[in-house]
Parts: sequence; structure tokens; C-alpha cells
Amino acid sequence: MMYRDLRNRVMVAALIAGAMVTAPFSALGQKASPVAPREEQVRSVVTRAYDVYKSDTSGKNADYIPFLAQVDSSMFGVAVVSTDNKVFTTGEIKYSFSIQSISKVFTLALALEELGPDRVFQRVGSEPTGRAFNSPIAVVDMPSHTANPLVNAGAIATTSLISGANADEKWNKILAFYSKAAGEKLSLIDEVYKSEAATNDGNKALSYLLKKYERIYADPFESVDIYTKQCSVGVNVEQLARMGATLANNGVNPVTGERVIKAENIPYILSAMMMAGLYDGSGGWAWKVGLPAKSGVGGGIVAVMPGKGAIAVFSPRLDDAGNSVKAQKVIEYVSKNLDYNLFTPGSVGLK
Ligand code: GLN
Repeated sequence: MMYRDLRNRVMVAALIAGAMVTAPFSALGQKASPVAPREEQVRSVVTRAYDVYKSDTSGKNADYIPFLAQVDSSMFGVAVVSTDNKVFTTGEIKYSFSIQSISKVFTLALALEELGPDRVFQRVGSEPTGRAFNSPIAVVDMPSHTANPLVNAGAIATTSLISGANADEKWNKILAFYSKAAGEKLSLIDEVYKSEAATNDGNKALSYLLKKYERIYADPFESVDIYTKQCSVGVNVEQLARMGATLANNGVNPVTGERVIKAENIPYILSAMMMAGLYDGSGGWAWKVGLPAKSGVGGGIVAVMPGKGAIAVFSPRLDDAGNSVKAQKVIEYVSKNLDYNLFTPGSVGLK
């Protein structure tokens, strides 16, 4: 278990140097949110949630991607990163798991940077499907065919929007963008990519269905390949929480201070997460937790508390919708106990 407070370290260093500390933190991030819970509260509630759920073994690893079936299902890690760059982590924090569908959020963010919200909305849309994340029936039935950027069909269409002279240039741009959101260089987990590329016929079928409806904007198989790579990017829980904290911090990475996403794009990304971040589990999630979040079949979930920070949990056992069971339970517990639920007036200070 580890708690780091960069601000204190900087202040102490400045005091030791005998400097006047007037605005010690301005270079590192924003001031603490006036309505965010205090760091001791965060630490104690997250630690309790970790202890309550650590021996829960419900759910099972994804197995339609062979690599994921053999990941140690007992791994369990939690990270919280605040918009003022306080970090709290517990459990398995070193393991790099594949980001999987959580990547969809950040490719959407990149598409918004490049095309702006109107054109992305026109080309992809933003309606829930009420069906599994990889449903071909949804592609046929939904009036937009693409549905939204967070189900596979809409995500592949979103990936196809990213500009570049060739597939490598597009892929490198996506990876560099994710790395900026995480505040450090991320890379592809080659074994995951190979395992998924050998078994992604369903996604290829979706891309060709989209072609039939003229709802894919580059070569279908090239787009699926880039999408498969983006899903195979490795992150540990802290990196994932930092990516979420960049969204919570209005697009500025709270660790590096770099602007990654235009502030005006943040509401579109968070609303897409609220509406479809946990697929056909999204309604129940909104009801119980009230936070924009995104899951991946690698076992990660990241939830965003706008203006306050983000929580990421990794645990590979999934429910039937493809969402990590333990991650959902931990985030629900934390959201309830720290008044994070956005639909609670207490979350913005009304007591
Ligand atoms: N790469 C996975 C797929 O395309 C992502 C799905 C997910 O994480 N829900 O099936």
C-alpha cells in the first residue's frame, strides 16, 4: 500500500531550500476541488472496499480471446488519482493488463480532437444498444448502425476516422495519444495482440456490415487491425487511473500538466461513458453508481469523478456483460461512501 503526495514533497523541498512558498503547486496540477473528499477519507474507504471484496471469486475471465483466459484471475489492484495529483494505490499495481475496450474512450477523444463533436456525432452517433458489446444484430437494427463509440461497431468506425497516411501512422498516433493521457509511454502487449488478431472474425464481420451501410470511413480490415492493437495496449491500474484523471481534470493530465484533450470535448466523452461504458450493464451501473465509467474485458474499469479524480480497478473475473465483477463492486462501494455519485446533490457540496 502506498500513498504519494507530490505537492507535499515539492513544498518540503521548497521549504528546505528556504524559499517562500506562495503558489507551490501551480506547476503540477490544479488546486484541490472544494467538494472532493479529503485524502484520509479516500484512503480509508478504498482500503475498506479492497478488504471487503478481496476474497470475492464470482465471475470468470474472458475466454473468447485465448490469452485472457490464462491470466491469473486472483490479481486485484486499485488506484485513485486526484485532479490535484494525489495518488493512492493498493493491491496488484505493477501488472500490465490489456486496456481492451477502455481504449475506445481515448480513440473517441482523439477523433473529437481531429474532427470536433458535430462530425463525430454525425458519423458515429450516441445511442445505447441494449445488446452485447459485439452484437451484429445491433448494427443491423440501430438506425445509425454504428450506435455509439463505445460498442465494438461504433468503436471500429471511430478508429476508422483517425487520420494518417497509412495504418502505421494512424496506430502510432493513437498510441502516442494514450501515452499522453497516461503521462508515460505505453506499449502494445504483443501476445495479446496476436491472440486477439487470430480470433477477431466477429469484429471483421462487424466492419464489413458497417461497410454495407457506408458507416466505416477507411478500409474495414485495416480499421479492425488498428482497433485490435489499441485494445492490446498494456496499462497498470495507476496508469489507467491517470488516464481517467485527465478526463476528470478537464483534459489536462494532472501529473504532467499537459493539455491532452480540449476542455469542450470532455462532456461528450463522459456522457458516452455514462450511457454505454458498461454496455448492457450501463443502466444498472448508472442506477447504483452514478459515475461515467468504462470497462474492458481485460478486467479493468475506470470511473471518472469530474473535477475530483478517477478510480481504476483491475480484477480479471467478468460478469455476463463482460464487466469486471470486483471492479464494479469496489467502485460502487467507494462511490456510495465518498458521495461521488454525480446524481447526488451532496457530490457537489449540498449537505
Ligand atoms: N478487444 C475486445 C473485442 O473487440 C474488446 C471488448 C471489450 O473489452 N469489451 O472484443
